[in-house]
Amino acid sequence: MCWLVDLVIRNAKVVDAHFSGMVDIAIEGGDIGALLSPGTACTAAQELDAQGCIVMPGLIDAHVHLREPGLTHKETIATGTAAAVCGGVTTVLDMPNTAPPVSSPQILKEKGKLVAGQAWADVGFYALLGPGMVHQLAALVEVGCVGFKLFLGPTTGSLPAPDWGELYEAFQILADLGVPVVVHAEDRAWVECGQAQVSNRGVFDYQSFLIQRPKLGEVSATQQICLLAGATGAPIHIAHVTSAEAVEVIGRAKSYGWSVTAETSPMYLFLSDEDYAAVGTAMKVLPPVRGRTDQAALWAALRNGIIDMIATDHAPHTPADKDQDLANAAAGAPGVETLLPLLLDAGRQGRCTLADITRWCAYEPARRFGFPNKGRIQPGGRADLVIIDTNEVWTIDQSQLHSKSCVTPFHGRRGVGKARYAILAGNIVMADGDLVGRPRGNWVKPTQGGRASHAR
Ligand SMILES: [Zn+2]
Repeated sequence: MCWLVDLVIRNAKVVDAHFSGMVDIAIEGGDIGALLSPGTACTAAQELDAQGCIVMPGLIDAHVHLREPGLTHKETIATGTAAAVCGGVTTVLDMPNTAPPVSSPQILKEKGKLVAGQAWADVGFYALLGPGMVHQLAALVEVGCVGFKLFLGPTTGSLPAPDWGELYEAFQILADLGVPVVVHAEDRAWVECGQAQVSNRGVFDYQSFLIQRPKLGEVSATQQICLLAGATGAPIHIAHVTSAEAVEVIGRAKSYGWSVTAETSPMYLFLSDEDYAAVGTAMKVLPPVRGRTDQAALWAALRNGIIDMIATDHAPHTPADKDQDLANAAAGAPGVETLLPLLLDAGRQGRCTLADITRWCAYEPARRFGFPNKGRIQPGGRADLVIIDTNEVWTIDQSQLHSKSCVTPFHGRRGVGKARYAILAGNIVMADGDLVGRPRGNWVKPTQGGRASHAR
């Protein structure tokens, strides 16, 4: 075989969720044209040698806050997606708690217009599921949202949830549309109850924070929303799972065949309450980072498939927002750029395999949120790739990150593997930590009917 292609990647040690092996990857028109035996004759406009590196599908982070529009002092589409590609993440799904929140088709369209010429990675958008929005759901899906975000508990933006009656109606509609609802599962009543308990304590230490955002609130909200999914058939996705008890609830819901998927984040996989003394408010996130038993349960749930994916909940705040006492510090931290080096470090320690990483961070998010042409390395798929030198061992330094606000709890931690190249639709957009060319990211919309309805 011999023909002219745009780009060929030679000596690629490919690892995706289903395949690993040495191939040459021929890329044409933004797609993977063919996987060739190494050394196959093939004329390419450009050639990359991946000798000694791993080639993975570009990672897909299903939970980021790019903060634009309205909160661009914290992050922007340009800076957040620059951080993404520098970390090997080529697609991000952005949350709707920007200003204004994404609560109408018109606002979604306007937000979509911000992507072209700014974004280094592809960007998909969630819409809000707020009060009074039932009649807008179909139109928002039509415009191309990847799903809906439901904030059951109080968090950044203080967006209220619809009441249960309205949610029941919304879930019935979304069951028909087959579009997932991503749920911030913390029960408002339990959070308020925790708040009252804390005000009696006098001090606000990490224990107070855990009382203020109790596990009971997470488990109760997870349970309620799973029941609603079961009753209506609506697909749901539980965001940032933090506790062993929530894992149990999700496992049970899945065993009934309900369309429930779940994510956890590196915050909960690599930190525990014991780290607070050393790390401080950089690790203040919602729901809170809990104990070591929870951490172990989350790893186990990823391995047995109860938790489907890892998403970072990349949620930057300015150093001034974070540099407060624990009670007042903003909750959230950047994460998109440190995802891969942390997971590769975990891989080196035998906690996961490279195939696991691509399953959790590429294949499963692509499947759930409707991007069947992403998340794998296969002929006909989009040529979104990351080429990684897995031998490199380094120290994460927040001053080197590309986000606008870089206060990270992982500052000083070991990272393994450097993303040497990020390739988006066949174009090199990052090489050795530097952005290349111009921002080529697109507003990406899910394929109609391309969403997987069940976890497995
Ligand atoms: Zn979030």
